[in-house]
Amino acid sequence: MTADVYFMDLEATSKENLPEKLLRLVKKTGLAQRLDKNDLTAVKIHFGEQGNTAYIRPVFIRKIILAIKECGASPFLTDANTLYLGTRSDSVSHIHTAIENGFSYSSMDSTPIIIADGLRGKNETAVMVGQKNCEHVYIGSEIINSDSLVSVAHFKGHELSGFGGTLKNLGMGCASRRGKLDQHSNVSPKIKRKTCIGCRECENHCPSQAIYLKENKLKEKKAYIDKTKCIGCAECIVRCPTESVNINWNQTVPVFLEKMMEYTLGVLKDKKNKTLFINFITDIAPKCDCLPYSEAPIVNNVGVLASTDPVAIDQAGADLVNQQQALPNTSLKTNHKPGEDKFKGLYPSVDWEHQLDYAESLSLGTRKYKLIKLKTLAYKKS
Ligand code: SF4
Ligand code: SF4
Repeated sequence: MTADVYFMDLEATSKENLPEKLLRLVKKTGLAQRLDKNDLTAVKIHFGEQGNTAYIRPVFIRKIILAIKECGASPFLTDANTLYLGTRSDSVSHIHTAIENGFSYSSMDSTPIIIADGLRGKNETAVMVGQKNCEHVYIGSEIINSDSLVSVAHFKGHELSGFGGTLKNLGMGCASRRGKLDQHSNVSPKIKRKTCIGCRECENHCPSQAIYLKENKLKEKKAYIDKTKCIGCAECIVRCPTESVNINWNQTVPVFLEKMMEYTLGVLKDKKNKTLFINFITDIAPKCDCLPYSEAPIVNNVGVLASTDPVAIDQAGADLVNQQQALPNTSLKTNHKPGEDKFKGLYPSVDWEHQLDYAESLSLGTRKYKLIKLKTLAYKKS
């Protein structure tokens, strides 16, 4: 089986600007057949951390929203809160950051932002997937409650998965805080006792009384975690004022990638034929938009992909990036020529293909695709 992946390059003319071309791409991919009238449609995007500049421009997101509204559906913009302390770790700061980055109610055609996992990342739904790494996955409830889902991902490099595209936007991006910790680690967080000031913030907010304070030889109170009681909710990570509670990075990369795909399976489980996936292959930074800065892009802007297959669209995205000549003076130091693997060049120890292979084995989609290029409309005669 081969999946259709639609592609628009970034050539605009006086006949059709890029937002209009994007609208044509989205319609061509069959958006109208995926949404029903009155659907509450989750538009899963990444609003960008404060200071990040590589996230998708709001003007394009607005166009996608208009296309969804044309189908009679009611879209809302969404993402889930972060695992770490930053400018998107609770719904209040998350929405402030989104507005600062250009995703306001007015600029998004009166479309609300609803953070999928609630005020503090605890509004989650456990979805049974019964796979080799996860029996259940923990997804932001408003993603599960939505009738249909349009994922709009920024395709770029990523430190843990080689690249981040649609599959990561779904698997990691829709997971609640507990779900995110579950993917990164198979044990509880760890405490850096050197910087712990014994303030008890973590202890006071731990839902399972897993944290306790104990005096050390210098009579200083320091926090400890009882692993037998910890449920991995990650609340302590975001509560600690000195960033002394951290993720235990003990997951191997292949297991991390597999868990992320099992989470993607959970997100899509009840959304058969109710999804559309879009990858923006623009501002292709080497690292995630979760960082409060963006490094120089590793290749020139390529274009936008749209598909109903989440595996095929990421395979096509990786292929298109790898076909490019790398730009000079970026953090990509090897594999500059067209055809060379840019993601391996950035992260040699990450086998990014494993996520696609594993996703395929879960029947999430196929790595085989047909690239259908949108024609550029001719210039208007003056
Ligand atoms: S992860 Fe949750 S349950 Fe575990 S110690 Fe931290 S706050 Fe407590
Ligand atoms: S919140 Fe942080 S600083 Fe305070 S006791 Fe817990 S680990 Fe220590």
